[in-house]
Amino acid sequence: MADPKGFLNHGREVAQTRPVGERVRDWNEVYVPGSLLPIISKQASRCMDCGIPFCHQGCPLGNLIPEWNDFAYREDWSAASERLHATNNFPEFTGRLCPAPCESACVLGINQPAVTIKNVEVSIIDKAWDANDVKPQAPERLSGKTVAVIGSGPAGLAAAQQLTRAGHTVAVYERADRIGGLLRYGIPEFKMEKRHINRRIEQMRAEGTKFRTGVEIGRDIDAAKLRKRYDAVVIAAGATISRDLPVPGRELNGIHFAMEYLPLANKVQEGDFVAPPITAEGKHVVVIGGGDTGADCVGTAHRQGAASVTQLEIMPRPGEERNANQPWPTFPMLYKVTSAHEEGGERVYSVSTTHFEGDEDGNVQFLHLTEVEFIDGKLTPKPGTERKIPAQLVTLAMGFTGTDRENGLVDQFSLELDERGNVARDGDFQTNVPGVFVAGDAGRGQSLIVWAIAEGRSAARGVDRFLTGASDLPSPIRPTDRSLMV
Ligand SMILES: Cc1cc2nc3c(=O)[nH]c(=O)nc-3n(C[C@H](O)[C@H](O)[C@H](O)COP(=O)(O)OP(=O)(O)OC[C@H]3O[C@@H](n4cnc5c(N)ncnc54)[C@H](O)[C@@H]3O)c2cc1C
Ligand code: SF4
Repeated sequence: MADPKGFLNHGREVAQTRPVGERVRDWNEVYVPGSLLPIISKQASRCMDCGIPFCHQGCPLGNLIPEWNDFAYREDWSAASERLHATNNFPEFTGRLCPAPCESACVLGINQPAVTIKNVEVSIIDKAWDANDVKPQAPERLSGKTVAVIGSGPAGLAAAQQLTRAGHTVAVYERADRIGGLLRYGIPEFKMEKRHINRRIEQMRAEGTKFRTGVEIGRDIDAAKLRKRYDAVVIAAGATISRDLPVPGRELNGIHFAMEYLPLANKVQEGDFVAPPITAEGKHVVVIGGGDTGADCVGTAHRQGAASVTQLEIMPRPGEERNANQPWPTFPMLYKVTSAHEEGGERVYSVSTTHFEGDEDGNVQFLHLTEVEFIDGKLTPKPGTERKIPAQLVTLAMGFTGTDRENGLVDQFSLELDERGNVARDGDFQTNVPGVFVAGDAGRGQSLIVWAIAEGRSAARGVDRFLTGASDLPSPIRPTDRSLMV
């Protein structure tokens, strides 16, 4: 155990954020650089190294949290990094972006604020990069087997890294112009600067993984050709079809899916545009959808100089304490104030959009809504609550309905889908087609980065077994796992 009295002597402290007035004028990460390191050893000392570490169960990767907390407490950063990488290929992504279900499952959290596990995680990996301690791990010998990975989000990258290190020759195909999936073009720079992705890709290239950008499998290369060229295929193509809102006025100019709006803002940061082709500047912005994607639209609109930002959510506002039906150690649905929400704007709950109203040029000007309430378990409009709010840019952030079924990927591979529209797979993450595997949002449905990495690692083991008959690679999860409800 780090320090038997750590949790008695020190309260929970987390990373400091920069003042709102400063950070909305730039796109850098919201945290004060270097603010964690002075506190992190004490924070790690709060870990009690419980006999049954429920945090392992909370983390889909099964991260060895008490072990690296102990090393972080002793400031043995190299050993901490080794333990962290034993279960997680990309802790700099999860340490910044994970909602930390591990902390909801922390035993200390039963009656005290939980250990700041995520902040310890990111401190360990940032320290390791700074110390030049994250080295390529090229395989000692090659297997002579080849694998194609379709999609370069966290699932594809994790699968590719595991398989390359196991000695297979791996090529990652990405239809976008840059590697990273939603890490690159969904998640804004202020949540994670893209230099973190670039650094990992360099490491992966040095290990032997090949990357092919601007190639869409199903359109540019058909499935039959790919299967002929490679011994196995991993589909990690994400769940990229956005849920639409088919109400009157949807066709007006100025109404966009979040994933039409956010990538353009990210491309400005990459230097592709001077100004974003879709911008919130000077406009009344309405974001429909109260989740993380919606919050990313809110933070992006603030930085682009929106006149106002309103985020709408159809469900009631969650509580600030656990509900009785979401007891410890499950991951509770709580009212969250993200960094984007700290920066301003209004959040409106229990409302549903009825239609949009435009001007004579076909540009959206107003959004009409009504309040809703649950009656007999169904969300029902409340009579007399209809009103309209100004809306000159509307982003739809209501989730995703599954993997792309139009680019030929599903049909050409003859893939079976499950009842939720995701690519079906067996316990080894293999689809109905022998030698074709699936990992991440494409198989699980819209989820989280930590799950995508866990799926990529687990699918890699399935592929390795398929190619060689056995595998030493770890498999943190089964396809059906929904550990502690996240
Ligand atoms: C705006 C936004 C913010 C989010 N924020 C968070 C967060 O803060 N924390 C968190 O944990 N999760 C977050 N998520 C969810 C998380 O990003 C996803 O769960 C995760 O990225 C899924 O990883 P993946 O590898 O399965 O797919 P993706 O990241 O979607 O990557 C799939 C890739 O496959 C490529 N592709 C698709 N079809 C083809 C084809 N036919 N040929 C070649 N390439 C193809 C796509 O271009 C894409 O690059 C967020 C999601 C969004 C949309
Ligand atoms: S990956 Fe997420 S759940 Fe796992 S230890 Fe890190 S913050 Fe916690």
